[in-house]
Amino acid sequence: MSDPSAPDVVVVGSGPNGLAAAVTLARSGLAVQVLEAQPTVGGGARTVPGIVHGVVHDQCSAVHPMALASPFFRRFDLPARGVELLHPEVSYAQPLVDGASAIAYRSLDRTVEHLGVDGPAWRALMEPLVERADGVVGFVLGDHRSVPRDLVAAVRFGLGVLEQGLGATWDRRFREHRAPALLTGVASHAITPLPSLPAAGTALLLGVLGHATGWCIPRGGTQTITDALVADLVVHGGVVTTDHPVRSAADLPPAHAYVFDTTPGTVADVLGDRMPARFARGFRRFRHGNGAAKVDYVLSGPVPWAYPEVGLAGTVHLGGSRPEMARAEHAVARGRHAEHPTVLLSDPAVVDPGRTGPGGIRPLWAYAHVPAGSERDMTEAVTAEIERFAPGFRDVVVAAHAVPAARMALHNANYVGGDIASGAITLRRMLVGPRWQLDPFATGVDGAYLCSSSAPPGPGVHGMGGWHVARRVLRDRFGITVPPDLRPVG
Ligand SMILES: Cc1cc2nc3c(=O)[nH]c(=O)nc-3n(C[C@H](O)[C@H](O)[C@H](O)COP(=O)(O)OP(=O)(O)OC[C@H]3O[C@@H](n4cnc5c(N)ncnc54)[C@H](O)[C@@H]3O)c2cc1C
Repeated sequence: MSDPSAPDVVVVGSGPNGLAAAVTLARSGLAVQVLEAQPTVGGGARTVPGIVHGVVHDQCSAVHPMALASPFFRRFDLPARGVELLHPEVSYAQPLVDGASAIAYRSLDRTVEHLGVDGPAWRALMEPLVERADGVVGFVLGDHRSVPRDLVAAVRFGLGVLEQGLGATWDRRFREHRAPALLTGVASHAITPLPSLPAAGTALLLGVLGHATGWCIPRGGTQTITDALVADLVVHGGVVTTDHPVRSAADLPPAHAYVFDTTPGTVADVLGDRMPARFARGFRRFRHGNGAAKVDYVLSGPVPWAYPEVGLAGTVHLGGSRPEMARAEHAVARGRHAEHPTVLLSDPAVVDPGRTGPGGIRPLWAYAHVPAGSERDMTEAVTAEIERFAPGFRDVVVAAHAVPAARMALHNANYVGGDIASGAITLRRMLVGPRWQLDPFATGVDGAYLCSSSAPPGPGVHGMGGWHVARRVLRDRFGITVPPDLRPVG
């Protein structure tokens, strides 16, 4: 006889995808239990106490263009739940060594004006996509099995990706060096050799959102997003159990369905012999990507950028010109530390003065691209890179704390060797899934699904893997074809 207290669905892992699945399922009236290996909830969406009293740091994600744009979060409506998404006037900036800088304002017109001779070419690339931003987001964050709702947006996006993703064409559009550097900074989020089609896709999606919704930063830190998800889950009867790593089937309670917000390798370990051999092989061979090494700073004041407008940006990409960044990403892909590593940096106090601590000290969030599994403490390399564009930076550093790539998996098992995208960003992985298969979320075992960013639509705090999988579970396991309303109650 089945245990009446057993959950209908067990979700393994409490990252944004796991919680998005859990919320959707609980809102459909199912009993949901989330099992999380770590002592705290949220995976890549956690804010943790700092290295200096009074300052907190986003442990992983910090900047959230997709928290407003993703179809899951639009339904869930973070602002209505009190999560304040703050918009920096400058979405992202790219300082250059000649003392100049390339700036992506939230305003497309202002960006076009700022980019001078390349302004019209920037507009020609971005504006047709910004006008159809919902269609672009729907296409990129879709399950890649349904026909895109906005075919015009999908085609325009595809053409832009081809242009910016191929070596023969990516340098044809612009005449000066600032606009290409600006776009390359965004492309670098893919942590792949440049140019590449998936990096171009990343650049265009995030570039469009930079003008359409802005690259927002939650007041108080990323944890507020996780807290809103957990609060909703609990109100709808869901249970979260922390300190519960799932290593084998014995760690799972009986349930009608299992949703894995983990790596494919973990799924293979847990499902073991129940998995068909071809699935198990594909999941175990799943290729992880290059690494990221984190450095969190506490500063006595703002970064002294040589080009002051950079100080208005919520996100800054460091690495210099397009050719310099391409060289750095190639070095990393070949297993070498770059001379000038790509560094992504965010100073949340630019939009959120509440992030400052006693005496005006403030957090600075940064990570550098490094070879997979790198054990190097990147504090000095990142500090030198910031100093290159902000002379005097060392003088405002109060404290720094590094997490080498090799240690990232200690706080999140999905980040194997520092692979913060939970898988190498290739076109196949983004579109098809961890192996060639019809359903990108299938594990080969009835009732068990993969929802993490290792499956389409890939990395980022958008919750879409969870949303897609929850709808499959509802339909296939419980005969529920209408997804629940996710708006806040009351
Ligand atoms: C340094 C860094 C910076 C980033 N910056 C951004 C950013 O600014 N904006 C953005 O959108 N994205 C960013 N990302 C990426 C983003 O955090 C991830 O893409 C996103 O969190 C993926 O969500 P997920 O739910 O798929 O998995 P995760 O958030 O990785 O969560 C997986 C969860 O599963 C748990 N788990 C794994 N294995 C097991 C197991 N066997 N048993 C139980 N629990 C398990 C983990 O502990 C974790 O809690 C960043 C990531 C990092 C690391």
